[in-house]
Amino acid sequence: MCDGYSSLVKEVLRNFVEVYPGQRPAFISRASGRVELIGGHTDYNEGFVIAAAIDNSCWVAASERDDDKICLYSELVKEGHEFILSSNLEPADDCRWANYGRGVAAMLLQEGLTLRGANLYIASEVPIGAGLSSSAALEVSLARAMIHISQPEYEMEPIRLAQICQKAENSYANSPCGIMDQTVSIMGRKDHAVFLDCRDVSVKALPFDSGNCSIMIFNSMVKHEIGGGEYGKRRQKCEQACAVLNKKYPQVKALRDASESMLNSVKDQLDSVTFSRASHVIGENARVLAAGKALSQNNIAEFGRLMTKSHCSARDLYQISCEQTDFLAEQIWQCEGAYGARIMGGGFGGSVVALAEPDAAENISQKVHKAYKDSFDIGCDIYLARPWQGTEFIELK
Ligand code: ADP
Ligand code: MG
Repeated sequence: MCDGYSSLVKEVLRNFVEVYPGQRPAFISRASGRVELIGGHTDYNEGFVIAAAIDNSCWVAASERDDDKICLYSELVKEGHEFILSSNLEPADDCRWANYGRGVAAMLLQEGLTLRGANLYIASEVPIGAGLSSSAALEVSLARAMIHISQPEYEMEPIRLAQICQKAENSYANSPCGIMDQTVSIMGRKDHAVFLDCRDVSVKALPFDSGNCSIMIFNSMVKHEIGGGEYGKRRQKCEQACAVLNKKYPQVKALRDASESMLNSVKDQLDSVTFSRASHVIGENARVLAAGKALSQNNIAEFGRLMTKSHCSARDLYQISCEQTDFLAEQIWQCEGAYGARIMGGGFGGSVVALAEPDAAENISQKVHKAYKDSFDIGCDIYLARPWQGTEFIELK
């Protein structure tokens, strides 16, 4: 067990026993939240993203049961939920958070895995709805706990596990998320970013110099809704642009295959909004590739500049920013020691991610927090994160 976790583990064990008297967990499953460093709305265009698993995790302590019942308890919502293991499990109407657990159990069973009953205690440090993917951390941590309690020697292939968790979220939590969140949570490595090719879901670990660079997340507290209409409209415009490009360039199967000059050559066939949307995606893919190169050369300053350009493109061409996230990004850009900042995730609120010199982080936090409060009358939550090993088991027996 890592010493750094010992006090948290002790607390989880204490709380576990209160919820499940007389039981003792066999292990704790940990899965990270994740931060999207660059690559906005490139995932559904089969493009590239650079993200990282972070040291804010969802912890699931697990003990065996003799029956085929899964008992869940979430410390955050202070609520329990039970269900019998069956591949025909329906989503629950009265307990939305528990659907992440019901979903992964049903999907694992549908995949042919044999699961046994378990008592599961969930304690998460990943804030909900801050763009750090508390949902993926929850699914991955639960799925791994359910597998590990049933078949301790079995290690599922990471991509398959990510797909199962994504499917669970799509169909049980009614969220049309892509594969990025789960993949990064599972495949993240300490002090590395994850370069993800969303076409074949292949990943590459890129060294991330945490000693010289802090990741900062500023939650605007404006709620984003991935299921909202604007997200769907962006996807539609991308498909429209791709269809026009494909007629002229049959090799363009997704916007990931198109270049700026290809797009310019069909400009007269696209309305200005569709052109702008496609232009963002094509530019963003190029920025992610450049950012990957910068990271492999440990050029954080260049990575930061690309993040800032990414924000401008998201704001002007893709139009997924809002007054609050623009304000946050602009404030951060002006701070000494900030390498760059951009809106992350679906947009229309949510969080802004920044890279900064570690010594400057405290100052930046204070300055930006004050400016935000003065302008919007509400504080922004600020988190410091470090790229971390995505998942692990802490054996307790
Ligand atoms: P995020 O960007 O944080 O992933 P989502 O809307 O995708 O936001 O997922 C948040 C949802 O995940 C919550 O509303 C809740 O249903 C579920 N969730 C996440 N963490 C927990 C937790 N610790 N306990 C219970 N439910 C959780
Ligand atoms: Mg989510």
